[in-house]
Amino acid sequence: MNENPFNNTANAFSLKSDKELKKAHFIFTSMSQPWLVQLGSKATMLALKWHLPVKGIIEDTIFQQFCGGTTDEDCIPLVEKMFEKGVSSILDYSVEGKENEADFDAVVGKKLTLIHMASDNNALPFEVVKPTAIGRFYIWQKKSEKKMLTVPEELEWERIYNRVDLLCKTAVDNDIALLFDGEETWMQDAADDLIGEMMRKYNQGKAYIYNTVQCYRHDRLDYIMELYEDAKANNYIVGAKIVRGAYMEKERERAKNYNYPSPICVDKAATDTMYNNVMHYILDRLDVIKLCIGTHNEESTLDAMRVLSEKEIEPNTNDVWFGQLYGMSDHLTFNLAALGHNTFKILPFGPIEDVMPYLIRRAQENTSVAGQTGRELALIKQEMKRRGI
Ligand SMILES: Cc1cc2nc3c(=O)[nH]c(=O)nc-3n(C[C@H](O)[C@H](O)[C@H](O)COP(=O)(O)OP(=O)(O)OC[C@H]3O[C@@H](n4cnc5c(N)ncnc54)[C@H](O)[C@@H]3O)c2cc1C
Repeated sequence: MNENPFNNTANAFSLKSDKELKKAHFIFTSMSQPWLVQLGSKATMLALKWHLPVKGIIEDTIFQQFCGGTTDEDCIPLVEKMFEKGVSSILDYSVEGKENEADFDAVVGKKLTLIHMASDNNALPFEVVKPTAIGRFYIWQKKSEKKMLTVPEELEWERIYNRVDLLCKTAVDNDIALLFDGEETWMQDAADDLIGEMMRKYNQGKAYIYNTVQCYRHDRLDYIMELYEDAKANNYIVGAKIVRGAYMEKERERAKNYNYPSPICVDKAATDTMYNNVMHYILDRLDVIKLCIGTHNEESTLDAMRVLSEKEIEPNTNDVWFGQLYGMSDHLTFNLAALGHNTFKILPFGPIEDVMPYLIRRAQENTSVAGQTGRELALIKQEMKRRGI
């Protein structure tokens, strides 16, 4: 690998028409203005609350950039188009912040439909679940803190347990892998324990159940090492989706407020080192741990590709997948796919009002021109120049 394969913008943007490329340019340029994102986020939420006619504008811009549609069916043409380029999809019903039992059951119902839908479509090898979308945060937290639950809370936990088990069983029965998202540290222990139990139960000879390893946590190499030892001792396969982690500010603030040591690595370099250490640890143990590399970071991606090549592992091995969010880092996803690697896009969908928190997070994450957005914009401009538009 002498030349950086990610500079190939013809591959990266092969699915974008000239018009779509110009629109992406406009969106990323707008998002690179922090004041605009801050103002726009607040104004949009208010406008939606007051039923002002802004849905059309949102749909035509940021929604189209980061979401596949309002329903699962809406997403299918895009899923098929990406699959023709070798890129798989994970349909993510991105509705957040629900807090009652009927909503949790509705999410499970939706996820079951998506698992069935995926079982009939080779372009959809995974489904994804956020633990707090199927059970109250408070219960996950109380369980993580090892506090005694009241009798009604015990029943509530039992329902969460049954929802998780039903989703895992349905995924296995339909030969679909299930990725559990990683969330805040103060609820994550209970999720790690429960997902660990599901791996032991269902990952017999194959990784169906994956937990997320957030490498901005300084304890995550220890976590994956323990999981590896347990899997070897109990004869099952570990599924690990590795990410850096999305709740850094919140984590640090809480640690400060409650006066405990921050669980997050001291700086970005330490997170990068942790990410790469966890990734290398797993790449050396692919017989027991199957890996999804969830990142938009070019260095980590190149590093993984280098290791696979050195170990003479075929790029299309089912043991290693690369994943990015839809609307971001097409230069990674489509070039990885062109080189034969297994790649997926997480493709969120849902009614516009409900996916707004997700869209606002994407906009906020893309405000720093020094980082990913700068790279994204530069590549879009490069491709526009190549096409002469
Ligand atoms: C397919 C996929 C699935 C994902 N699933 C999850 C999930 O389940 N749970 C979740 O939490 N996130 C998830 N994310 C988001 C992810 O955690 C990151 O927030 C995001 O991908 C940015 O990290 P990066 O590796 O792409 O890029 P980079 O730009 O290289 O890294 C940015 C990340 O580095 C870390 N960081 C930045 N500054 C500092 C600092 N000063 N000190 C310490 N660390 C720092 C933060 O984690 C930040 O998000 C997912 C991302 C993808 C692509």
